[in-house]
Amino acid sequence: MSDAPLLAIDRLTKVFVTRRGFPIPRTVSVRAVDSVSLTLGRGEALGIVGESGCGKSTLARVALRLLPPDGGGVRLDGEDVLAASPARLRQLRVRMQIVFQDPASALDPRQRIGCSLAEPMRVHGIARGAAAITRVRALLDEVGLPATALDRFPHEFSGGQRQRIGIARALALGPDLIFADEPVSALDVSVQAQILALLADLKARRNLSFVFISHDLGVIRYFCQRAAVMYLGRVVETGPADALLDTPLHPYTDLLRRSSPVPDPAAAIAMQLQEGEPPSPINPPSGCHFHPRCPHATDHCRAVAPSLVEITPGRSVACHLHAPATHT
Ligand code: SF4
Repeated sequence: MSDAPLLAIDRLTKVFVTRRGFPIPRTVSVRAVDSVSLTLGRGEALGIVGESGCGKSTLARVALRLLPPDGGGVRLDGEDVLAASPARLRQLRVRMQIVFQDPASALDPRQRIGCSLAEPMRVHGIARGAAAITRVRALLDEVGLPATALDRFPHEFSGGQRQRIGIARALALGPDLIFADEPVSALDVSVQAQILALLADLKARRNLSFVFISHDLGVIRYFCQRAAVMYLGRVVETGPADALLDTPLHPYTDLLRRSSPVPDPAAAIAMQLQEGEPPSPINPPSGCHFHPRCPHATDHCRAVAPSLVEITPGRSVACHLHAPATHT
């Protein structure tokens, strides 16, 4: 079996160009994803963590080609996703699915659940008619919903049940990889724990890989083997989730951890940062983007952006405090 990663993201970049300002608007560009490189193994869950607006959801959408990239590469099992023809991209999407924070956004409110779940199977030629309905019943059972859900509409379900339907829809084509974009953050804490347990069970039974996006460190620790921390479009730290959260190397990871000291995902709370808000991504700070909030910032930090450097095997950080010593 190959040791190659299932997913390899290489210096992926996404720039949004927009018009801002009054009374004279000007064109500004925002590097929402700034040269991000990550890998994901088979059966692995990689957490992407950071405050809202850090680029983590955009990263998922560009990797899935729901948004066009502005640079870099994405490979699934070694195959270039960004260069795939429309027909080939449809085939690759069978293997890569997404679960949204708001499952209603992926469900037609006028369509019964049975139709919503059978539709992707029909579109991709996997099953239709009675065979599709049989598969839908099995999917509903797998995500803990009764077969009677088939004939009901999205508004007849609770938020947690709707997320189970969103998960069933993502599973309908039998993917290897799921991008989960804040899948539990809109749910009550007790329901969050149930959905996380369901995802963990599915991951184990189907050997699924996850890119799991969350602002909640408790959730990341519970679900993910590895994690990457993003700040204003850049990855600032990666490593095994437990090590990264127990002994953060980057001052921003440390700030996140101190702002969310909740080890139990069932009691996970929304992160409340106390040491300032992130600056605008429209005009990010020079050098290290984190320097206005960093207690260790120096003139060098304000002038030069640190590179992501491997400090120990599997652990990398982008911070001048951890730059390897240079010898003259
Ligand atoms: Fe702080 Fe400098 Fe490290 Fe940035 S590079 S996190 S400003 S010490």
